[in-house]
Amino acid sequence: MKILFHDKFYESDYADNGASVPGRLEAIMGVIGRESAFEIVRPQPANEEDVLLAHTPPYVDAVKSNHRLYDMAAFAAGAAIMAAEIAITGEPAFACLRPPGHHADRESAWGYCVFCNMGIALLKLKQQRKIESAFVLDFDAHTGDGTKAVLLNWKECIILNPYADNSQSYIQEIQNFVKEIPSVDIIGVCAGFDSYQKDVGRTLSTFDFYVIGVLMKKFAKRAASHRRFAILEGGYYLPDLGKNVLAFCQGFE
Ligand SMILES: [Zn+2]
Repeated sequence: MKILFHDKFYESDYADNGASVPGRLEAIMGVIGRESAFEIVRPQPANEEDVLLAHTPPYVDAVKSNHRLYDMAAFAAGAAIMAAEIAITGEPAFACLRPPGHHADRESAWGYCVFCNMGIALLKLKQQRKIESAFVLDFDAHTGDGTKAVLLNWKECIILNPYADNSQSYIQEIQNFVKEIPSVDIIGVCAGFDSYQKDVGRTLSTFDFYVIGVLMKKFAKRAASHRRFAILEGGYYLPDLGKNVLAFCQGFE
């Protein structure tokens, strides 16, 4: 499995929020970077044309006025694109990036997000006619309203933001939902680890992240020619963030 990561994502002064806190990416890479089963690949930044697949020109210009922020966000979108391109070959990929993107809609963003990384990656594959349909699972504690808005007019793109107050029903909801999907061209996962028991979502355990990874791997095998990728969204409880990401990746690979 490939991990898309660039040292640039260690930079924390591009913004001042929960996703940009110092040490957050170190907490993840310090754990998954040591795994020999994972190959680290350096992403390239997305170009403006790619970003415009999901966002309006005035919004992109507004982000551009802050060079640091645009640079980081373009790298994050580029990592998502590369993860999706690797997934097309049947090899799983996880893009360990920031800023996250699932609260970024076509012309605005909130919740630490800048560009809709998942939307850009999927729309690029669609534009290149590599896919016609997709499934997105977003297991962040917060609904991926940006991803939903960006992909709204794409009827063959199915999005699930599970909601349950305990982990058993949460996982059951994912199982029941994907059971009904006969096939899709690719599976994208918005991996938000703030749904962790000790994070703001107070729902999932480390083992649950592993189980969700396995579920998506099995779903990809049955219905998507093994094509699957994931990108980092939230996750703010740093002491356990690395092991939670590792658990998901181990299930997913
Ligand atoms: Zn979140």
